[in-house]
Amino acid sequence: MISAQKSMAAFTSFSVLRDYARAGRIVARVRASPGISSYPSSINFLTANHSRRYLCRASATHDEEAAAKAAAINADSGVPTIFDKIIAKEIPSTIVYEDDKVLAFKDINPQAPVHVLVIPKFRDGLTQLGKAEPRHGEILGQLLYAAKIVAEKEGIVDGFRVVINNGPSACQSVYHLHLHVLGGRQMNWPPG
Ligand code: AMP
Repeated sequence: MISAQKSMAAFTSFSVLRDYARAGRIVARVRASPGISSYPSSINFLTANHSRRYLCRASATHDEEAAAKAAAINADSGVPTIFDKIIAKEIPSTIVYEDDKVLAFKDINPQAPVHVLVIPKFRDGLTQLGKAEPRHGEILGQLLYAAKIVAEKEGIVDGFRVVINNGPSACQSVYHLHLHVLGGRQMNWPPG
């Protein structure tokens, strides 16, 4: 069994930042160090207390916020989400990567030239990152490692961003944990 720590150690120059102060989102910013061809590295988790009064993003519309709040109501009811249908291949998606635990497919509403969602095939209570428990450590590491594989496949491994929107104040709209892998353009900081 590969621990989450071992899986995560396969990344290059990796920093995970929570920036609730502006967007209320959990954001993993990934940068590969130039000239380094292997992927050992460090991961730093920074946390901050935050208010739930933030906008979902600087330009979020009232509709987006309302939709996110509505989606949260049934978050833990066990009701299947659109991602369950994608996993079951009941609705089409453009799959970028797949293994027995993880599925990665293109976002239907891309926010960057490359925008791929990475999800666990078995939700196991992970409606959102905030529901993570110790037993989820392995799959969380596998999701992050899959994000790196996706970045390689999409040709953006030298600069990409991994985002997890957690809860209504971050405009999470699908309650099946997913990582957004974004790249193919200059990603700005702080995120907006
Ligand atoms: P979030 O707002 O963080 O919960 O992200 C949910 C994402 O799922 C959004 O970026 C949507 O564009 C995306 N999405 C919703 N339905 C589909 C679908 N059928 N195929 C691909 N992506 C989808």
